[in-house]
Amino acid sequence: MDPRTRPDLAARVAQAAAAALKAHGYVCAVEVLLALTWLSPRHLQSWREGQIPCLEDGIQTASKRVTQALHLLDAWARAADLEPTPGSYVARNVARDPLRFSRSGSEERELLYRTHWVSKDLPAAKRARTLAKADRPPEIIVVAARHADWVCQRCSKVGGDLLTMATEGTTCLDCAGLGELVFLAAGNTKLTRRARAHSARTAVVVRWSQSRKRNERIGVLVEAEALAKAEASLET
Ligand SMILES: [Zn+2]
Repeated sequence: MDPRTRPDLAARVAQAAAAALKAHGYVCAVEVLLALTWLSPRHLQSWREGQIPCLEDGIQTASKRVTQALHLLDAWARAADLEPTPGSYVARNVARDPLRFSRSGSEERELLYRTHWVSKDLPAAKRARTLAKADRPPEIIVVAARHADWVCQRCSKVGGDLLTMATEGTTCLDCAGLGELVFLAAGNTKLTRRARAHSARTAVVVRWSQSRKRNERIGVLVEAEALAKAEASLET
């Protein structure tokens, strides 16, 4: 332990944890690492999309410091009498692969990352809602291709209007397990909401806007049957 840095880091972890608790009703290691700027939102996103093998591969800080911060968060949360629940972290892909945090994969270290700490003062129903929200699997993102000559890194097929990003790189919808879904353009909020509710598999479709320099949501992919059901329910 370095006596010059330890108290400073403890204060920074405590500050980040308190802020996350206030903002989201719970606190976890990912929030603290983001607040410490040891983890960038871009690396977090790559990890959530299954593009890097473990979260630690996206953390630039020395492993020893990360270990210190994980234990400081654990101690802070216990001192604050928060309730620990292991969160479920799955990848933003069809397989919903479980995500790994640490290079070592040790159970103890994984749990330090995975635990969501929530206040015991919250009413039980509110606590359950907060934890369910924290556990909600991220949306699968499908991208409108910007060029016709992209190649699927799994089956080598060339082109297609839509693609997804997998560990290997650009992937066609067939290889991503989304091939049978149909496109529903954005605009009819009620229809979209119902179709998504009926569909076991859904994805959000985005297109790059050159003028706004960001991806914009242009619609969703849903199961054809779910769309038909949603349309029928709105006709009656
Ligand atoms: Zn393919």
